[in-house]
Amino acid sequence: MDIVKGNMGWIEVVVGPMFSGKSEELIRRLRRAEIARQRVQIFKPAIDERYAANEIISHSGLGIASDNILKASEIMEKVQPRTEVIGIDEAQFLGDEVVDVCTKLANLGKRVIVTGLDTDYRGRPFEPMPRLLAIAEEITKLLAICVRCGNPAVHTQRLVESEELIVVGATGMYEARCRRCFEPNPEQAHEKKDTPLLMRNRAAGKS
Ligand code: ADP
Ligand code: ZN
Repeated sequence: MDIVKGNMGWIEVVVGPMFSGKSEELIRRLRRAEIARQRVQIFKPAIDERYAANEIISHSGLGIASDNILKASEIMEKVQPRTEVIGIDEAQFLGDEVVDVCTKLANLGKRVIVTGLDTDYRGRPFEPMPRLLAIAEEITKLLAICVRCGNPAVHTQRLVESEELIVVGATGMYEARCRRCFEPNPEQAHEKKDTPLLMRNRAAGKS
């Protein structure tokens, strides 16, 4: 964003499926801002307790300290006037409210970097990410590697049976798939797996 002059804020959105490197990219941009001695604040929804409570950790183990929030409006309460750069991870869990919050922060002159899944486990647009993409100054779409065939993967394949939109988990519950290998019906995907997770769980005495 070299074209931005003065104290104008803006919104950068980073989307893609799970394992595409969104958290890594967020951490990279925030670290660079810190090296430039800018004041940075980082938020993530408390729902994602994948690895650590007050930290964003990528699937490859990269980490950065963050503030846990239960809803998007908490960002406005916690943001300090002198903060210049704001990172928000896993914005798909924060609802429509996060769109207003990002807009307000950018209008206050802050650089807002927000990441999230742009599609859900059935391949449908995952609100509020499409709305964030529409209002962003800059968009980055990342791809993972399809675990079946090695092609670029745009989808998050759910491997466990659930009709819930949000089932938090990582390895074993989800994997990256390309458009050819993606099976939007999780039951089919689960049946085709050699050692289905549910069967392994049953064998281990879990329900
Ligand atoms: P996201 O935030 O998009 O879920 P992360 O930044 O947490 O992604 O993790 C990205 C890292 O995940 C990669 O650098 C790589 O080490 C690892 N990884 C695991 N499985 C895959 C895959 N199928 N494709 C690409 N990266 C993968
Ligand atoms: Zn594939």
